[in-house]
Amino acid sequence: MTGLDGVDPARPGESGPADIRPDTLAVHGADFHDTHDRAHVPPIHLTTVFQFESVEDMAATFRGERPGWIYTRYGNPTLALVERHLAALEGAEAALAVSSGMAAISTLILSELSAGDHLVAAADLYGGTRNLLDGIVRRMGITTSWAAADDPAAFRNAIRPGTKAIFVETPTNPTLRIADLTAIVAAGRETSVPVFVDNTFATPILQRPLDFGATAVIHSATKALAGHDDVTAGVIVGTRALVDRCRETMKWLGGCLDPHAAWLLERGIKTLGLRIARQSQNALVLARWLEQHPAVRSVNYPGLATHSAHDLAARQMRGFGGILAFDLAGGEPAVRHWAEGLSLIRLAPTLGGVETIALIPAVSSHIRLSSDERLAAGISDGTIRISCGIEDPADLIKDLDRALGRHD
Ligand code: PLP
Repeated sequence: MTGLDGVDPARPGESGPADIRPDTLAVHGADFHDTHDRAHVPPIHLTTVFQFESVEDMAATFRGERPGWIYTRYGNPTLALVERHLAALEGAEAALAVSSGMAAISTLILSELSAGDHLVAAADLYGGTRNLLDGIVRRMGITTSWAAADDPAAFRNAIRPGTKAIFVETPTNPTLRIADLTAIVAAGRETSVPVFVDNTFATPILQRPLDFGATAVIHSATKALAGHDDVTAGVIVGTRALVDRCRETMKWLGGCLDPHAAWLLERGIKTLGLRIARQSQNALVLARWLEQHPAVRSVNYPGLATHSAHDLAARQMRGFGGILAFDLAGGEPAVRHWAEGLSLIRLAPTLGGVETIALIPAVSSHIRLSSDERLAAGISDGTIRISCGIEDPADLIKDLDRALGRHD
C-alpha cells in the first residue's frame, strides 16, 4: 500500500468532485468555496424554525415555488452542510441526514417499499436491522427472504416477482464476511432490483458501493463517520430523486437529525481518513498477533491472507478496516476471564470510535439467538469482536497479552 499506510490511494473511477480524493473530501467536503459569512468553521443553525417576511413569502415557500428553509424537521443549513459532505464522500448526487442508523434504514425501507413487496436481505445483518425487517416491516406487509452475505447466487435465487430491493452489509457484523458487491448488483440488475448497502463498517474511505452500481447507501453515522462515540446519527445517500422521496418519508416519520449533532458529525468527518488508516493498521497488527497466540482458535480479519475472502476484499476495498473478530479456544469461561483482565480496552456495544472497544456478541448483540442459531451465524460463546481505535498498537497488544495470559 502507498499513501497512508493501511489505506490504498483512490483507484481510477473513484474520484469525487473535480477529481478530489476521499481523504481530501473528508476534510473539505464538496463546498471548497462556501465561506459561511467568512467563518472558517461553519456556524450551527440551532433553530427549529425559520421566519418569513410576508404571508406571500410563507405561502410560496410552503408551496415549493420559492427556495427557503421552513422547519428543521424539513431541513436546516447545518444539516444541508453535512448532507453535501456525505454525498460528496460517497460519490452520490444527494444525501439525507437522519437521527440514527436505524432511522436511515427504516426511512429508506418505508420510502421505497410498500405492503405486498418483497425484500432479499443478507442473513448476517446488524441485529437491529434484522429485528426491524422481521418485526415492524413484516407487520407493514413487506416480507423478507434471507441470503448468506457471501453467496451471490443465494441473492439471485431469492429474487421473485414482487422483489423490490436487496439489502446487504459488507464486511458483515461480527463475522467479517465479505459480500461481493459486483456480483450482487449484477443479480439485482438482471431483474431491475435496486441494491441498498449498509456501508457502516467500511466507510466511504475504504469502499463506495455506488461505484459498484448500488442504488443507495446508508450509514450508522454514530460509528466511524462521527468517530468519537458522542453523536447518534444516520445518513441515506443516492440519487436526488431517491433522497427527495426519503426526505418526504422522514418528514412524516419524524427521524430528523438535531443541528448540534449534525455539526459534531461534520467535525468528526474531517479526520475520517486519518482515523480509518490508523484503525486499519492497528487491526492488522492485532490480527497477526492474535493469529499466533495459543489461546486463540481463529481470527477473522479480511486483511489476513488466511481470510476466505481476502482477495475479494482486496479488490473491493481500499483497505481492510479497523474491525476484527477472534475466537478463544476456552469458550465462554475464557472470554469472561479475558474481559476481566483488560485495563485499556473497554467492553461496549459500538464500533468505529477512537478508543479500542471489545464486544462479546453471544451476551450482547446476538443474545436473543439460541446457541444453535448463533453457531449457524458463525458466532460461538468464545467469539470476541474488537473495534480498533487509534492508540499505539504496542499498548493494545500489551493489554490483550496481559488479559490472555492471566492465571489467577
Ligand atoms: N448498521 C450497522 C452495521 C450497525 O452496526 C448499527 C449499530 O450498531 C446500525 C446500523 C444502527 O445504527 P444506530 O445505532 O446509529 O441506529
